[in-house]
Amino acid sequence: MKNDFISTVSHELRTPLFSILGFTGTLLREQDELERETRMEFISIIHDESKRLSALIEDVLMISKIDSGRVSYKKSELDPSITVSEVCRSLKIRADEKNIDLRLRVCAPMEHIFADQDSLKQVAINIIGNALKFTPPGGVVQVSLFCEAQTMCFSVEDNGPGIPAEEAEKIFEKFFRVERPGEAVDGTGLGLSIVKEIVAAHDGTVEVKSVPNQSTVFMVRLPISMQPCRK
Ligand code: ADP
Repeated sequence: MKNDFISTVSHELRTPLFSILGFTGTLLREQDELERETRMEFISIIHDESKRLSALIEDVLMISKIDSGRVSYKKSELDPSITVSEVCRSLKIRADEKNIDLRLRVCAPMEHIFADQDSLKQVAINIIGNALKFTPPGGVVQVSLFCEAQTMCFSVEDNGPGIPAEEAEKIFEKFFRVERPGEAVDGTGLGLSIVKEIVAAHDGTVEVKSVPNQSTVFMVRLPISMQPCRK
């Protein structure tokens, strides 16, 4: 397993790195011959590939930390609606840029959960971030929080391309990405495996239900804490 992981990571790191090496090499060799516009295009590619490399390294470090049991979750009683509202607020700019209607609905009464705040934030960022990434401009992303039967439910619904039924389970595996011909969307394929690990460490579950090109719903369920929410 470890060897498989190392060889997949090396392969994933190689692609952006080779691209950076290629373009920087050309810039160094041919700096005087290249048009300014071409140079700018190369620099922009180098910048994008460096960002991808950096995201990949952050995700790989996170996964390896989780896998080796080195993550210490600092759990405390918290109101999930506060954390999720903060995440929605910070992602609003990204939604506006794509003209996506990002909505948040919190159903009362909201209960406390016993969780690590940063990890809960990470879960919300990864799932809502994906919804914004894959939904085309003009779409709707509905985030909902509600409680039922001792469980806090956090759902994110979008009306993007969706996930084919046969791939719905695989998207939680490391590095798995749905192939969409002709579509180059950024990503590491690690976001949902991080979500799955964090949710499991909080005794919860995560699942997806998707009808391609209609609606995709990610649902995270976490046990509510015994203390009622103080409002
Ligand atoms: P990535 O960094 O590629 O987004 P993830 O682990 O977060 O990695 O997601 C794995 C794959 O699951 C994505 O590449 C995408 O194909 C699919 N996916 C995740 N969320 C959505 C969504 N809301 N709509 C459509 N496809 C999705």
